[in-house]
Amino acid sequence: MKTLILSSDNEDIKKAAEIIKQGGIVAMPTETVYGLAADALNGNAVRKIFEAKGRPMDNPLIVHISDISQIYQLVKEFPQRAEILAENFWPGPLTIILPKSDIIPDEVSAGLDTVAIRFPSHETAQRLISLSAPLAAPSANLSGSPSPTTLRHVRDDMNGRIDAIIDGGDCEVGVESTVVTLAENIPMLLRPGGITAEQLHAAIGELKIANAVTNPLADGEKAASPGMKYKHYSPKAEVILLDGENASFYRYINKITDSNTAVLCYNEDIKYITLPSIPIGKKHDYSEQAHMLFTALRKADEMGFTAVYARCPEKTGVGLAVYNRIIRAAGFNIISLEDTD
Ligand code: AMP
Ligand code: MG
Repeated sequence: MKTLILSSDNEDIKKAAEIIKQGGIVAMPTETVYGLAADALNGNAVRKIFEAKGRPMDNPLIVHISDISQIYQLVKEFPQRAEILAENFWPGPLTIILPKSDIIPDEVSAGLDTVAIRFPSHETAQRLISLSAPLAAPSANLSGSPSPTTLRHVRDDMNGRIDAIIDGGDCEVGVESTVVTLAENIPMLLRPGGITAEQLHAAIGELKIANAVTNPLADGEKAASPGMKYKHYSPKAEVILLDGENASFYRYINKITDSNTAVLCYNEDIKYITLPSIPIGKKHDYSEQAHMLFTALRKADEMGFTAVYARCPEKTGVGLAVYNRIIRAAGFNIISLEDTD
């Protein structure tokens, strides 16, 4: 299949909308990461997304809307808490899970009785949805690899596998949306992202944080969000997280002499490290780290490294999203440096 590269101008977005209406699949820029979109109400079109990505069919997709009025046909109920979240954070990087209506195909909900909905703030995504339909869209990468935040990332993974890619430049947030479920009695954060747990708590009060946000699933434990059970976001290189303060981190890293090894670090660390370093931003700028993380993980492979030691991010604010992605990239392989001193 030849993959068309389209611009974000009106004529090209119309072309992309036509492809979607014909049952095709198109990668689109959003403020979080690039998404791979199909008409959410066309089960056959949605199936093509799973094939192109190699995504397990039991991992449900997020439905993207461009106007709040579109939600009423997609969900069974729109409770007051959902209204509060929508008012505070939409359009933006927040996905809300609600009981689904009957028009949601099984391919989208992976057989669950709920559906995940997001109203993105990216203008190109909004225009594409307005001209076509609510769009089911996971990240536009091969299943398991780091999500794409640039046109080049999408091309590297999807060229020849999908109908078109819309070029929207680099994605601003850089990690996928925050996912919160309102389908249980108490709202629960399933995946941290650009909207923080602290912001959600301030808006709706009570909020649980799913165990799987920071921990591996226990044997036999059922994933509240099916995507959480898979190893994820991983480059080909092995990623090892190092949990410790500057001095113990530098001491550990500077003992390693293997030339196939790189260090994922903060900007401030570079001058203290002898191995090749791939910076992910300033130590206390969690948004910058989120923005740079997936590019940095992909860079490790592009530069031919087979092992990457990474600093363990702080777990507050957007830092929780960075931590959640990086521990999955590392397959939960964390070395506590306080134990090695
Ligand atoms: P992605 O499409 O790759 O950004 O991933 C979407 C995430 O949302 C995955 O972790 C899914 O498992 C999760 N998700 C989507 N729909 C639902 C749902 N109805 N219930 C629980 N989790 C969901
Ligand atoms: Mg994904």
